[in-house]
Amino acid sequence: MVERAGPPPHDPASSEVFRADVDLDKLKRALADRATPVAFVALACCPEFIGAAPARLSNLKEAARLAREAGVPVVLDASRIAMNALFVQRHEPGQEKRSLREIIRELAACGDTLVVSAKEACLANCGGFVCTQKEEVYQGVRSLVVVYEGLHTYGGMAGRDMEAVATGLLEMCQPEFIGWHQYQLEQLARALEGAGLPVVKPVGGAGVYLDARRFAPHLPPEQHPALAVACAIFLGAGVRCGERGLASRPRLEATANGAGMELVALCPPMRVYSLAHLQYAAKAIAGVYARRDTIHGLRLRQAAGALSGYGALFDPVEADTVLPVPPPDPQAQPLEYEPYRTKTVEVLRTTDREYRERAAAEAGFNTFLLRSEDCYIDLLTDSGTSAMSDDQWAAAMLGDESVAGSWDFYQLEEAQREVLGFAHMVPVHQGRAGEHLISQAMIKPGDTIPGNMYFTTTREHQELAGGTFVDVIIDQAHDPASQYPWKGDIDLNKLKSLIEKVGAKRIPYVKYECSVNMAGGQPVSMENARAVSELCHAHGIQVMFDATRCAENAYLIQKKDPKYHKVPVAQILKELMSYGDGCTISAKKDLLVNIGSFCATNHRWVYERMREMCPIFEGPLTSGGMTGRDMACLAAGIYEMVDDTYIRSRVEATQYLGKLLLDAGIPIVEPPGTHAIFLDARRFLPHIEQDQYPAQALAAELFIEAGIRAMERGNVSAGRDKKTGQNKRPKLELVRLTIPRRVYSRSQFELCAEAVIRVWKRRESIRGLKMVFEAPQLRFFTARFERL
Ligand SMILES: *Cc1c(COP(=O)(O)O)cnc(C)c1O
Repeated sequence: MVERAGPPPHDPASSEVFRADVDLDKLKRALADRATPVAFVALACCPEFIGAAPARLSNLKEAARLAREAGVPVVLDASRIAMNALFVQRHEPGQEKRSLREIIRELAACGDTLVVSAKEACLANCGGFVCTQKEEVYQGVRSLVVVYEGLHTYGGMAGRDMEAVATGLLEMCQPEFIGWHQYQLEQLARALEGAGLPVVKPVGGAGVYLDARRFAPHLPPEQHPALAVACAIFLGAGVRCGERGLASRPRLEATANGAGMELVALCPPMRVYSLAHLQYAAKAIAGVYARRDTIHGLRLRQAAGALSGYGALFDPVEADTVLPVPPPDPQAQPLEYEPYRTKTVEVLRTTDREYRERAAAEAGFNTFLLRSEDCYIDLLTDSGTSAMSDDQWAAAMLGDESVAGSWDFYQLEEAQREVLGFAHMVPVHQGRAGEHLISQAMIKPGDTIPGNMYFTTTREHQELAGGTFVDVIIDQAHDPASQYPWKGDIDLNKLKSLIEKVGAKRIPYVKYECSVNMAGGQPVSMENARAVSELCHAHGIQVMFDATRCAENAYLIQKKDPKYHKVPVAQILKELMSYGDGCTISAKKDLLVNIGSFCATNHRWVYERMREMCPIFEGPLTSGGMTGRDMACLAAGIYEMVDDTYIRSRVEATQYLGKLLLDAGIPIVEPPGTHAIFLDARRFLPHIEQDQYPAQALAAELFIEAGIRAMERGNVSAGRDKKTGQNKRPKLELVRLTIPRRVYSRSQFELCAEAVIRVWKRRESIRGLKMVFEAPQLRFFTARFERL
């Protein structure tokens, strides 16, 4: 039989943190009672049914000592040992200086045999193990494993599952993960409490619990208030909670002290949801709480054995449904939050300021020369840094690696036609390779190529083909303070006079970039695209998009142009592309892949020329140097980038960071663009002369302040004037914070903003830099500096 030796844990009003402590006197009595022999003493770290509250290390040690003194073995459920250790470290006197790992070791030593669910402790999706000091237990368990589980060398786990468990065992000792999880729980509890909800305090290690009796006091205990409230929360908020009440534990309840609690458990999985998701959940649940009078109770329809909670069925009492209020309008659902959750995490390394000072000096105060592992938040570029979706990874596994005629190539062709709509496509390994092919196919020496602002690699390839780039973007694009909504537009008058000046025959095409990178991610308007297309086609000039950020641009058309508010992004993009004759594109940006790309055209002759060059410079015509899996990921990415919910969250994340900075009075390029926020170093550090590289100095300070890596876009990037040998001293002296797609959460953007604000507050003490090494070309990649 089971004897409970703990204090009454069923008091939702208790403020005791260590509610899983063993009542040592009770244990002593049980051990001394020779009439009922004791098989073993079962101890647990953060047991589930009391809200995963922890036990003191000293208490468990004493309990183990008593058991051993009486010759009774101790079985410890160590499934939440790391969480328990965190509470010990934080709340048990004398333990605060010890590492989590040391405390875990000592907790583990309280058991002679440990039972571990790897799903809790080891951050794994399945698996577990038993370990023991006792030879006879080991032999006994081993012989049972082959009967119930699998061979004793895998126990029903796949090899990869065991790998995950082994890695997870080490990860659980990292205070960042457990600590972050606990922080999330506390924030969730605070948000719920702030909305007046009956939260069970103090918060334990597995979740936040709501007292259903206070949530729905009109429901009698036999109507399963906890289950009814959990159902109402699902119906009204789309949030799934667990039930910890009579419905799921009738048998356990029979042995418990006093009346059972009716709890609703909100147990966010570890490392899956962002803080913003949890805040959304709290808000939505508060909405249900406001209508709590309308919740109906439940009555059992069909029981289901011992673990009844898993299979029992219930019906609402005197009603059709538990919550007779319609769920919220899906349009009002959480679009401002990340529309995805985490499946795989990459561990971020924290460093201290002293370390970063040294790292910055070793890198010559050039953020390009830093090691990425030293960067806590890496905003160097949005190129190739996207997080791929589960669909993309799955597609990668199916990649057809045939040298010619890969299935994935045809999928890619189809995706391109469906989403962008061009007739012919040539695959290439990345954007600049497509620029090379198109420039060589279309430009003759002496030609002029007008465009809405230059891009480095684009202009380089136009010039290599003998062409000259002419900027015809509107003037507002060059003014960082202009609020004009379409700062990417082409100035039609500039374009007209250029056509008159050089003649339409010397203009093979106009380069028309979406969400113009060098202008700060500024969009073009649909009207401008239409007008540019009409003007060009009237003169027999083609329009070639740089479609690198075409989906971001399409989203801003939906957002800013009232005519398109209700039109899906996919349809807007199709219309936008219909004004062009083809495109180059860097798929490493909007198309959500780490490598790969293509270029496209509606004209057979352009296609034929590019086809001739593709095998020479890139690879086979059906791969362009990409692997089958690269093409598979790219084909999937093309569809994903025009998902309305995704692209909205992408652009709004950037805008959110911009807003945080603007609200704090930080000088940035306005309005915030789509893929990056640019700090205006001239206004940020007005005391630093431009030849002392204020933007470079500011980027270095951001890294030193908080491990945030940004990129200089100013005097260093601009280089020297070939004639005078002097620095070009460009008008814009900027630091670019570039946002990778689907990688960082809202709280990480908040951290970035806080870091920028801290640097802003101490801006007067920041000194300029002296360049001590400089390469003859593209110096910004390798230049080294010293502080003045
Ligand atoms: C990145 C980029 C390119 C070049 O593409 P890569 O894939 O880096 O070769 C071209 N145009 C724009 C606007 C870009 O942002």
